Amino acid sequence: MTPGRPVPPPLAKPLPDLGARDEVADGPRLAAAYGATASDSGLVPLTVARRAPKEDDVEIAVEFCGLCHSDVHATRGEWGHQNYPLVPGHEIVGRVSRVGSAVDDFTPGELVGVGCLVDSCRDCDSCLDGLEQYCENGMTGTYGSKDRRNGDAITQGGYATSVVVDRRYVLHVPESLDPAAAAPLLCAGVTTYSPLRHFDVEDGDVVGVIGLGGLGHMAVKLAKAMGAEVKVFTTSESKIAAAREIGADEVILSRDEAAMDAANRSIDVIIDTVAAPHDLNPYFRTLRVDGALFQLGLPSEDMPPVNPGALIRRRIAYAGSLIGGIAETQEMLDFCAEHGVTSDVEVVRADQLNEAYNRMVAGDVKYRFVLDTSTLGTPSERADA
Ligand SMILES: [Zn+2]
Ligand SMILES: [Zn+2]
Repeated sequence: MTPGRPVPPPLAKPLPDLGARDEVADGPRLAAAYGATASDSGLVPLTVARRAPKEDDVEIAVEFCGLCHSDVHATRGEWGHQNYPLVPGHEIVGRVSRVGSAVDDFTPGELVGVGCLVDSCRDCDSCLDGLEQYCENGMTGTYGSKDRRNGDAITQGGYATSVVVDRRYVLHVPESLDPAAAAPLLCAGVTTYSPLRHFDVEDGDVVGVIGLGGLGHMAVKLAKAMGAEVKVFTTSESKIAAAREIGADEVILSRDEAAMDAANRSIDVIIDTVAAPHDLNPYFRTLRVDGALFQLGLPSEDMPPVNPGALIRRRIAYAGSLIGGIAETQEMLDFCAEHGVTSDVEVVRADQLNEAYNRMVAGDVKYRFVLDTSTLGTPSERADA
């Protein structure tokens, strides 16, 4: 959606699998939602039918949902074929409203979260190792995925007043965390926590962070909480003060060759959050022997080639990483509660979502937008529209 394009008028457009009623004690329920009806529709009001909780399901009254760059790409069809209508959102925090008969680890009223995946095959080596995000049969994404256990339905995400998820994929959110500021932990938080933990970052390590957006600011906060010294790489002088504000010990302007030279062999692990194509070779020179660079952003165009010599001469590992498993996501939430880590957020109303998307694309957010789902209205208002 280009800036300035008018926001489409509200539609009363039910999703295909209706047949649900608004308020049925034990049946399916309608949720008020915002989503896209086509790649160029922008986000418009929708209703979505949520299944009645099956025996292992947890029904959640969503309170807040973070806005992730993936949501923008998916709703605008920038990642290939997309099923519409599509309700995005995979940084979900809310309270349990109902549970299935076999659920004994969640109770109504409890603060819970849902991240990027709501199911997986549960049987492959990755799933059995708690690495559901690398499921060999494909994880079920929180939105836009075929629902393994609900016929041919397509999963619909958290820009909605409720969601129903199998208990195995629901997280306990510690009550000490602010629910709005905790929402981005479910994607941006765990995406940066997982590689830091995989590298065993601890007291005294030096962590580099490339880029200071939603992911980058979480990487800085988490690495600091793990006891690391943190150096932020940025192309923009205007971000120096902001990086220091959230805890960076040093800020290096990546276009300043002298500053990059001065950082030679000073870093143990780099978390690269930039999704646009960029040359990694100057960053490899800042790593020590046995250092590693984890790339988290997926550029849509080719990256400049990596010089193998730079890796070989210092036994440097060049790795990727995708979100985190369910157990690791829980570990991250508990770590954040223990260390008082949350995201810096700007809470928006449903009618500000399209503007928020445009601001995200322009990089105009510090550091994550979070939707207040109490502004979505109710399904019955939709039906009257
Ligand atoms: Zn995300
Ligand atoms: Zn699997």
